[in-house]
Amino acid sequence: MLIGVLALQGAFREHQYLLDKCGVSTRQVKKTSELEGVDALVIPGGESTTMGKLLNGFNLMKPIIDLANQGMPIFGTCAGLIMLAKHIRNSQQETLALIDIEVERNAFGRQVDSFETDLDIPVLGAEPYRAVFIRAPYITEVSKGINVLARCSDKIVCASQGRFLVAAFHPELTNDLRMHRYFIENIARQKI
Ligand code: GLN
Repeated sequence: MLIGVLALQGAFREHQYLLDKCGVSTRQVKKTSELEGVDALVIPGGESTTMGKLLNGFNLMKPIIDLANQGMPIFGTCAGLIMLAKHIRNSQQETLALIDIEVERNAFGRQVDSFETDLDIPVLGAEPYRAVFIRAPYITEVSKGINVLARCSDKIVCASQGRFLVAAFHPELTNDLRMHRYFIENIARQKI
């Protein structure tokens, strides 16, 4: 399995590192031709307005949407979650609009800009998942087809819809491989 990691900006190297540890091949994606032959894509954290501009600037917006519509699984973390969301609260910011959720950017507020906490993510097993949040969004609305996978203080921070998986936190900044493994085994390999 070859997993592309969008490498325009943000924490893409860390994702590659964890995916390598999971035993899959990876490829940095910066241009359209690099999407050819990838089985799935990871969109990292970073800054979603910048990432949106770069996606447009490198003409990657439509090719990614087309491949997603043809069945390519995508895992988006933090800014990657924002890029996948259909709606951003109080914003007209352009996204890939692939997963039926509304998100709010920087939603945990300034006082708790960044933090770590133990999450209960039942699909990853009983052991708590140490999650790193950095100026994180959370999901404010979900449509019917969405599986809510985790909450943090009642706020939805991890969800899936078919072949799309999103997390408001940064699994690539920990040594816990469970989230990436879940994406590889339960989503990307399933060809949902
Ligand atoms: N705050 C960023 C945004 O709104 C996301 C932060 C992150 O990816 N760590 O795009």
